[in-house]
Amino acid sequence: MRSSNGPLTDSELFLSVQHFCLQDGPGVRSLVFFKGCPLRCGWCQNPESWSSRPQLAFKDHLCIGCGRCVEACPGSQRRAPGLPPADCRLCFACNEACPSGALHRFGEPACPAAIFRALEPEFPLFRRSGGGVTFSGGEPLLCPAAATELATRLRAEAIPVALETCGLFSLPRALSLLALTELVLFDIKLFDDRSHRHWCGGSNQVIKENLAALAANESVSVWPRLPLIPGATAQSANLDAWAIRLQELGLPYLTIVPYHALGDGKRAWLGMKAGPPIPALSDEMLQSSRDRLAGAGLRVFLPGEEEWELCYEGRRVTGRS
Ligand code: SF4
Ligand code: SF4
Repeated sequence: MRSSNGPLTDSELFLSVQHFCLQDGPGVRSLVFFKGCPLRCGWCQNPESWSSRPQLAFKDHLCIGCGRCVEACPGSQRRAPGLPPADCRLCFACNEACPSGALHRFGEPACPAAIFRALEPEFPLFRRSGGGVTFSGGEPLLCPAAATELATRLRAEAIPVALETCGLFSLPRALSLLALTELVLFDIKLFDDRSHRHWCGGSNQVIKENLAALAANESVSVWPRLPLIPGATAQSANLDAWAIRLQELGLPYLTIVPYHALGDGKRAWLGMKAGPPIPALSDEMLQSSRDRLAGAGLRVFLPGEEEWELCYEGRRVTGRS
């Protein structure tokens, strides 16, 4: 087993830590992003989180053509600025030599102890605001050892931990982390399995099973979140199907997350092909989707508006101040 101060492996990489957030859970929070996700949603705003390996991105608009990346490449694999060549060893020497930020590394082999120390100065603010730390990604449950170790350290200081999940995880492997988690933000997308495979690159069967299992578990507080994607999740039939299912599960509330095309630029930086064309989300579509879900009996919130108490009612709340 890895020592608590040892670096993470490639399958347990952190992407970043985002401080002073007012979404993704109660109060003021910090978000810890893990790298690696089992899904490939066409609208994903964080495609840099898909691979569980470190990645080198190239932002061509920042390149000043100085050639230092070529000089720094120890094995001379790099013969020009740009995305890493096919024979790249991912040593990141070019990234370190680049003066302009045109080359960017995604995925740091930090360790839970280092992340904990980076979060520590914010503990008083978390306590005053009723906030805490939210694990996101990627999929934090793909890194259960690192995530559990960090959660254990936070809980020892009475800092609440929330978890954002795509829902596709091994429940037995997730139990130790879930026991340390105050709140699970559970992403739901396409109810129809065929549509889910088409848009998200995998079946939703396990996701639905995990949602039902967590909803039935009195010790876990679950908050569903639905990205509102025109032509996909925002279709009336999808909204209706989820409204019925959430009521059946005793989760009559959710957050709808409006679509923004933020992932397109990152895909280009990483040399990925463009995602499927998705029309912009109009104000009318946002409102009609909200009305439809509310008409079906759900409490509907936008990010940052949530009344988190709804999901704690009747459940054991761990670590809330
Ligand atoms: S990451 Fe290393 S091997 Fe790859 S191009 Fe950059 S310097 Fe060369
Ligand atoms: S070191 Fe950076 S700025 Fe200079 S040529 Fe390479 S990518 Fe461009």
